[in-house]
Amino acid sequence: MELRDLGRRSGLRVPPANMGGMRLPRDTQDAIDLIRYAIDAGMRYIDTSRGYGESEWIFGKALRDGYRERVILSTKSSPWIIKLRPDDQPDATTVRRRIEESLRRLDVECLDYYQVWNIESREHYEQATRPNGMVDGILKAIEDGLVRRTGFTTHDSVENLQDYIREADWCDIILFTYNLLNREYAPAIEAAAKQGIGTLIMNPVGGGRLAQDSPVLLDLARKVGAADVPELAIRYILSNPAVTTVISGISKPADVDRTVAAAEKPCFDAEQMREIEAFLSARTPESGGFCTGCEYCLPCPQGVDIPAVMKCIYNARAWGLHRQARREYGKIEAGKRAEACTACRLCEAKCTQNLPIAEEMKWAAAHLAEAENQPR
Ligand code: SF4
Ligand code: SF4
Repeated sequence: MELRDLGRRSGLRVPPANMGGMRLPRDTQDAIDLIRYAIDAGMRYIDTSRGYGESEWIFGKALRDGYRERVILSTKSSPWIIKLRPDDQPDATTVRRRIEESLRRLDVECLDYYQVWNIESREHYEQATRPNGMVDGILKAIEDGLVRRTGFTTHDSVENLQDYIREADWCDIILFTYNLLNREYAPAIEAAAKQGIGTLIMNPVGGGRLAQDSPVLLDLARKVGAADVPELAIRYILSNPAVTTVISGISKPADVDRTVAAAEKPCFDAEQMREIEAFLSARTPESGGFCTGCEYCLPCPQGVDIPAVMKCIYNARAWGLHRQARREYGKIEAGKRAEACTACRLCEAKCTQNLPIAEEMKWAAAHLAEAENQPR
């Protein structure tokens, strides 16, 4: 795989496809073999965490015999995600303790990256960056030679991220969510790249959603010359010039093969990207005549959770993600599903999108509930 700059700040280079350690095989030897298989296939950056079960410990074993020198090793933690002791705080003392534990678990003397895990709000960011907070603790560990660089992972709002990106001179990399079905973070990714921050993308196939059969997305894949939907998903992300690399959770050799093969294909050209963007934009809830989730139609006198049912309908009809739609429908509380609808149409008078809600409930009851017990 052709290497890319991991942002100007780091001066490092990485391949376009790398590995995440959240879904490793349960069997330790299988996991070790898989990690080495991925490194031999060209993956270089490793994203793990103190909160991914035994992941750090397994990487520690896999990176012996010369593999450590071939990778960029990154782990992360935050007390708001995982509290290991009652006195854990988002402060320098706790983060130092966590770094030292991770070094022991990973069986290395130095981490290439230690990241603040999942900044989800301004409160988290302020806790991390206040004096004697997590970032100060990580910077002290960098000074002491235990860590080389830092950054953060996030699910915060794009607006907040734009502020952090402007301020965070300590940050070399950010791990974002971004894929065909969730392009919300594109402006933040662009802003980070402009600041010289490396941009890493988690869940490139939408947590498996884009790995399932979808006639709608397969049609798009074929139009732009991709072999299948996962290839389309990975190449779409890597065709964004502001993106450095994708981080794929690996469970089996096929995950490595599929991701590397897609990353080795050329990026989509401007014409192909225009075609993809037009296809996706025509299927947003607003433009496609789907429910926007505004909840103005609630409450339903029968207790139907209209926006939740409509979201399942959207996934099935706009994206052809029938399996996911059925699974999500099955998770809606029994009395709140479309079967409870009596077609009174009170909701339709309040719907901001003028949707035929009663008809849609009938469709969901027939297509999503009926299929609920079929194999998924
Ligand atoms: S039409 Fe159905 S979903 Fe709408 S308010 Fe009446 S019972 Fe509820
Ligand atoms: S009012 Fe219409 S668009 Fe809004 S949540 Fe209800 S069904 Fe969806």
